Amino acid sequence: MRQAFKDLLGLVYTPTCAHCGAPLVGEQTGLCVACQLDLPTTGFAPLVSNPAELRLAGRIPFVAGSSFLHFSQDNPTQHLVHHIKYRGHRQLAVSLGRLMGHDLACSHRFDDVDLLLPVPLHRWKLLQRRYNQSLLLCNGIAEVLGLPINHRTLVRTRFSLSQTHLSRIERIANMQGIFAVRRPEELSGKHVLVVDDVLTTGATLEACCLALQEVADIRISFATLALAGYL
Ligand SMILES: [Zn+2]
Repeated sequence: MRQAFKDLLGLVYTPTCAHCGAPLVGEQTGLCVACQLDLPTTGFAPLVSNPAELRLAGRIPFVAGSSFLHFSQDNPTQHLVHHIKYRGHRQLAVSLGRLMGHDLACSHRFDDVDLLLPVPLHRWKLLQRRYNQSLLLCNGIAEVLGLPINHRTLVRTRFSLSQTHLSRIERIANMQGIFAVRRPEELSGKHVLVVDDVLTTGATLEACCLALQEVADIRISFATLALAGYL
């Protein structure tokens, strides 16, 4: 019955690639194979002191960090990020999360991660957007790495202004003290991977990690979909 419904749906709705619009075939979701191969990947995952890590170096103690894609005005990443944040393209976010998972799996630096922590949205933002794109990325990563996701312990306690038009200093000030950890015992002794969409100044990850510092014996790594230049 379910397959019959899918077949019927397929007659009237053919899923298309979120970037180029080509029809998707078989089990493909989000992006077609050609667009996946064309992604501006960074290759950072296995590299110590890669540019994503350098952006946060000296600000927070972390085990390892990586960004999967380069983000710039003239590459596909900006288009993809816009789709997953503002156009409701949830399946694309999960697909990109899977690609992030495969990328992380190629590096042994993330082998002993115990759980995934999506950067939380404030509940008002969640009501407005209806989903947290970082949680969807985690869903994709979790499928590949077989890790649990904890999305209730790290919480956003205060609404922050949109970061888009703020300077680096303003972004950092805007993010001070906006995260908190509920039930820290759930994270105690764990190696957590904090997951976010775009690493720009690092103010969001820094604020998350400062809150996580309250947890006993925690080790923190981070992974973002993309690394942007300072805007
Ligand atoms: Zn495509």
